[in-house]
Amino acid sequence: MTTDCVVIGGGIIGVMTARILAKAGLKVQVLEKQQVGRESSWAGGGLLSPIYPWDAPEVLWPLISRGNEVYPQLCEDLLNETGIDPEYVQSGLLNFDSIETDKLYYWAKETDTSYQRVDQKQLTEIEAAVNPLYEFATWVPEIAQVRNPRLLKALKNSLLNNKKVQIKEGIEVQAVNQVKERVSSVKTSEGKISCQYVVVAAGAWSGTFLKDETRIQPVRGQMLRIEAPKGLLQRVLMCDSTYLIPRQDGQILIGSSLEYVGFDKSTTEEVAKKLYTNAIKILPELQNFPIAQQWAGLRPGSENGIPLIEESDEVKGLFINSGHFRNGVGLAPASCEMLVDKMLSSE
Ligand SMILES: Cc1cc2nc3c(=O)[nH]c(=O)nc-3n(C[C@H](O)[C@H](O)[C@H](O)COP(=O)(O)OP(=O)(O)OC[C@H]3O[C@@H](n4cnc5c(N)ncnc54)[C@H](O)[C@@H]3O)c2cc1C
Repeated sequence: MTTDCVVIGGGIIGVMTARILAKAGLKVQVLEKQQVGRESSWAGGGLLSPIYPWDAPEVLWPLISRGNEVYPQLCEDLLNETGIDPEYVQSGLLNFDSIETDKLYYWAKETDTSYQRVDQKQLTEIEAAVNPLYEFATWVPEIAQVRNPRLLKALKNSLLNNKKVQIKEGIEVQAVNQVKERVSSVKTSEGKISCQYVVVAAGAWSGTFLKDETRIQPVRGQMLRIEAPKGLLQRVLMCDSTYLIPRQDGQILIGSSLEYVGFDKSTTEEVAKKLYTNAIKILPELQNFPIAQQWAGLRPGSENGIPLIEESDEVKGLFINSGHFRNGVGLAPASCEMLVDKMLSSE
């Protein structure tokens, strides 16, 4: 079997890389050891901005801005192509933590983002269910979200209709083979596939394909989902490292933990209790509705959360697009565009 490019991993990074590569005219095979879009890209919150964007490394700011430019049209295109709505919405974010004014001001100026300090009276007018004990918040109206499981489903379905792309699920890539210093094929659980390029987009598992595998580490994040009625909450709330994300149908996600426990995806009562306690402190009415689900995902952790978007020093044609840590959905468009640019100009 032969193709131009093998993409290892069918998370947001793998499928978006494949979409852009196919647009550039390459034949692509996405090899996914389980099912497309069921790991970190499914487990996350779908926010298109870091939860404290002013604290994120400055090098990520233009990449996040690019994501915010791309997503509205991408989601519309995907809806037209597949009938699945990824629910892009600029719900905005109310942050109740105290923030260093200088940092906030600098970030807003550099990224051309607006923000406003709102007092308790304004808070009651815009989010009536927020606990009145909170006297002020920072309101960032442009922060947007997508419903990430639906985004992944739409991206997958769109690729299934793309003649340049083949998606193969249940196939594990075991090794990348080279001839002299150039990629020649991948060894998989179902045999060998010859190719000119390989993109490692294997999320938290990407380290296996790196010379220094510690550059990507799994970081567990746990979340809760509450079945709240539509309209209880419209905006994302952020307080004491806990965030509440309202979906279009009323459901509210509460996240998340940051745990360095290897590849263990189990959930714990301790984290559930902490997330729930923080959430009902800010939105007391949540107590009236059931916790429908708790889950955990493994983020691809990297140094300072800065992804690796590069060609291997040692093997020509071997690229990595991984390590997006807490921001892979927001960073995906810019990161995949950068990777494809590097690939097409590498010869
Ligand atoms: C609780 C939580 C909340 C989050 N919230 C947000 C948020 O609000 N906004 C945001 O932007 N980001 C968020 N993130 C982070 C975001 O989800 C990740 O950065 C992003 O999903 C990483 O995408 P990926 O494609 O690299 O990894 P994944 O989605 O994990 O995909 C990697 C895929 O590679 C496959 N794979 C691995 N090894 C192999 C192999 N050898 N052969 C074949 N296939 C293989 C895996 O099965 C997997 O499907 C959150 C993450 C978590 C866990």
